[in-house]
Amino acid sequence: MPSIKENIDIINSNIQSACERSGRKREDVLFLVVSKTIDVERIKEATACGMTSLGENKVQEIMDKYEPMGKDIKWHLIGHLQTNKVKYIIDKVEMIHSVESVKLAEEINKRAAAKNIMANVLVEVNIANEESKFGIKPEDCEKFIQEISLFPNIIIKGLMTVAPIVDKAEKNRKYFRQMRELMVDINSKNVHNVNMTELSMGMTGDYEVAIEEGATIVRIGTGVFGERVYPNKNLL
Ligand SMILES: *Cc1c(COP(=O)(O)O)cnc(C)c1O
Repeated sequence: MPSIKENIDIINSNIQSACERSGRKREDVLFLVVSKTIDVERIKEATACGMTSLGENKVQEIMDKYEPMGKDIKWHLIGHLQTNKVKYIIDKVEMIHSVESVKLAEEINKRAAAKNIMANVLVEVNIANEESKFGIKPEDCEKFIQEISLFPNIIIKGLMTVAPIVDKAEKNRKYFRQMRELMVDINSKNVHNVNMTELSMGMTGDYEVAIEEGATIVRIGTGVFGERVYPNKNLL
């Protein structure tokens, strides 16, 4: 089995190639290591390779790992966020990728204001209109962004999507392209205070295609750490 370092090296070289193919600069793409379910000891193997931006999908995991991982980490909350948990992480995360209701945006704004900070957020888009997925429908995005742009302590940095699970990455190309078009389109509407630059899209199976279509943040877990092992609740 390849080591975490070997996996990171491979992914970095694939990212480099995808940037070259699409005429993009390597520094315009953030390789976000998704550390959900992974213990601190193994995450530290990744951070020792210079990977200091980590993505988690649960508030509890960020809280548990925050102290042990130390101050140099930039945490990204990438999973569904419940309104009542915003207060625990508002001053711990670099960016919240999963804003998809006005109520949640309102709470983020309120908690950021109380700490006198600005919260960087992405709007989660359900680009393929999947029943099972969180996120704003593409056609509702402009109106949603107009609404949440009024919150003074939120900065809308861009859009995020969790693309469909597919057997071939190419099948998601059209969705990644639509995400980019959606961002360009909304930017052209000159919504007050909104100039989005970030596209968080692409995971282990499809990050290269996502980069070719304009991703600025790719979120990669399995490719770094191998298959995740979820604790079997029946055994606990
Ligand atoms: C788990 C997760 C990822 C990483 O998925 P991999 O296929 O393991 O790379 C990316 N984004 C979100 C929102 C996730 O929950």
